[in-house]
Amino acid sequence: MQETKVAQQSASPSSKNDLIVVAGAGGFIAGSLVRHFHDQGFTRIRAVDKKPLPEWYQRTPGVECLCLDVSREENCKRACEGAGEVYNLAADMGGMGFIEKFRVECLRSILINTNMIEAAYRAGAQRYFFSSSACAYNTDLQKDANVQALKESDAYPAMAERGYGWEKLLSEMFCQEYWAERGFRTAIARFHNVYGPNGTWDGGREKAPAAICRKVIEAKHSGSGAIEIWGDGSQTRSYMFIDDCTKGIDMITHCEDLIATPINLGSNELISVDDLVSIAETIGGVKLRRNYNLSAPKGVAGRNSDNTMIKRIVHWEPSTTFRDGLAKTYAWIEQQYLARKAGKRTLS
Ligand code: NAD
Repeated sequence: MQETKVAQQSASPSSKNDLIVVAGAGGFIAGSLVRHFHDQGFTRIRAVDKKPLPEWYQRTPGVECLCLDVSREENCKRACEGAGEVYNLAADMGGMGFIEKFRVECLRSILINTNMIEAAYRAGAQRYFFSSSACAYNTDLQKDANVQALKESDAYPAMAERGYGWEKLLSEMFCQEYWAERGFRTAIARFHNVYGPNGTWDGGREKAPAAICRKVIEAKHSGSGAIEIWGDGSQTRSYMFIDDCTKGIDMITHCEDLIATPINLGSNELISVDDLVSIAETIGGVKLRRNYNLSAPKGVAGRNSDNTMIKRIVHWEPSTTFRDGLAKTYAWIEQQYLARKAGKRTLS
């Protein structure tokens, strides 16, 4: 676990031999979280995902990998057997194009958290982490691109993103009530747009940073000279680099002052879609003609993370600059793009 100077940060969960279970580990963030714990010296890690093993984004050597659908109760029992800590990052999700179109799938992720938290509790786990989202915030507060950064109390009165956001809000409540009624230590982080290598970069579930990198790379290699942008380019977001995300999950989960308390985990560097395109163009060394598709999904006008609470309690916040993080992401996506062109296997 992260070394930290904060008094309320618990020591490591127990010992480096305790079993850590990570659900959704065939995907982007949980796959990187498995690697994070492995690099911290944890010797017993169980990674679980419903995708067939060859489709997992990352496989960390020495980690037990199970292919299980954790929306089903019996599979959650199997996944959580003997667990010291359980991290639930499994969800049917994607970027705006996915969550605006597939609300039923998003809502059905409620089965995952409902069954996982009960199985973790019954297995006698010491801690349970749930990955919530900035989509849990009241959408009425996000109608202006010059948005006020969202603070944790802005989730209520509730008017979350339809489907995906409401599922997150209800799952947060499960985590809060398991602590209140049963004394089960839970942790809840509201992620704000996570990006980086080893994430979805094509196929419809990718988020803006990966999609824009891919489009710039495609334009550069095809010589088309043009890029299609969803919306009018003015929408703003903050984007968190994956290494900050995994470090933050670890710190939040082991902070005694944050039990059952939803907290922002995001960068507060606000970037417009037009800025994003310009940064990707600079990295790629191209300048493209911009075609704005005003009928494409674009989500809320603006969203940023207020980091007052994480700075006050954890004495830390995500700090990778968007320029640095995007350069690493762009380089990785370009490798994937070229590998696919050469007929090799790629992630998306
Ligand atoms: P991802 O799609 O890359 O990973 C999710 C994984 O969950 C996938 O591999 C998928 O196969 C797996 N999964 C889905 N249903 C399952 C089931 N029933 N049983 C077992 N596995 C199942 O997504 P990600 O970006 O890594 O997101 C991880 C978590 O973080 C999710 O809960 C997501 O809602 C949350 N989150 C992500 C972001 C972001 O920017 N990526 C932002 C906010 C919240």
